[in-house]
Amino acid sequence: MERTLILVKVDGVQRRLVGEILGRFEAKGLKLVGLKFRQFPREVIEEHYGEHRDKPFFPDVVGFMTSGPVCALALEGPEAISVCRKLIGQTQSREADPGTIRGDLGISRQFNLVHGSDSADSAERELALWFSDEELVDYSLCDEVWLGD
Ligand code: ADP
Ligand code: MG
Repeated sequence: MERTLILVKVDGVQRRLVGEILGRFEAKGLKLVGLKFRQFPREVIEEHYGEHRDKPFFPDVVGFMTSGPVCALALEGPEAISVCRKLIGQTQSREADPGTIRGDLGISRQFNLVHGSDSADSAERELALWFSDEELVDYSLCDEVWLGD
């Protein structure tokens, strides 16, 4: 089992797509283990995108992601990190495959609706940044037997 950090970005919230986006992950078989919704401080967003600190788009993405509320999700499932990245699609939404969230719902590179951790290391780092241990919920789902290998 893996856990991954998903963000419905400011554009996804503004476009009223939180339910649609969360619904896609739920329908796939991922388990919701953490959820929060608010406008987050600049320090959290800068830390989150720390790997991009030296890139030219860093100020833009920080400005965009601090401009309104964001929905943070912690999702659990087998190979959850790569499964979610596949559901999300390529960074440039115009090139993302149909069937993916970005491919179906977006047309921008910057405003690409959703973030998903890209590796086990980033999932661990990002989950710790966005959620405390107590905010991540351990529980069973009644259909887990149908979500096996
Ligand atoms: P991903 O979200 O697919 O992992 P990256 O980690 O490369 O993509 O970039 C982080 C986020 O920064 C992107 O999702 C997007 O919102 C924004 N971004 C990436 N590249 C650019 C760019 N060239 N111009 C503007 N924004 C960008
Ligand atoms: Mg990334």
